Amino acid sequence: MAGLPGPGDRIEARCTRCNDVTGHVIVALVGGEIVKVECCACGSVHKYYPPVAAKQSQAKNTVCRVRAGSDRKEAVSTAKAASSAPGSTRNTLSKTQKAVLEIEQAWQRSMNQTLAEARPYSMHEQFAVGDVVEHPKFGTGVVQELLPPDKMQILFRDGNKLLRCSC
Ligand SMILES: [Zn+2]
Repeated sequence: MAGLPGPGDRIEARCTRCNDVTGHVIVALVGGEIVKVECCACGSVHKYYPPVAAKQSQAKNTVCRVRAGSDRKEAVSTAKAASSAPGSTRNTLSKTQKAVLEIEQAWQRSMNQTLAEARPYSMHEQFAVGDVVEHPKFGTGVVQELLPPDKMQILFRDGNKLLRCSC
């Protein structure tokens, strides 16, 4: 054990100029307490600041940095939540679009279910449920229902249509 520190002894202290804990040389002591030190890094002579305080402030800085990071994360998630809001607005806007999509899906299902070959529509033709009808205006549709004596319901891509036929 070296005993009590004396002038010229090397100690760890906080340097205000380096803003860090650096090696210092004791310059003056009063009643066994270090009062003046010389920084080995920058050469400045200043009051002795115990390195513990510096470590504490460093720890505080680290905590602050972590907090800043989590704040940034929160900000990002808030931004995400905000950006999902226009999405819900889009959903309310597309109520008609949704209905159109549902009709299209029902039409697609009907098209998938039937194995019938598409036949050109003619009001003089005979059709059966499940027949695929090629209409010049409405496109391809599937016969859903026969409504004697002369009508049939066909599901086209843009909805059900009542067309004439000879059923
Ligand atoms: Zn220094």
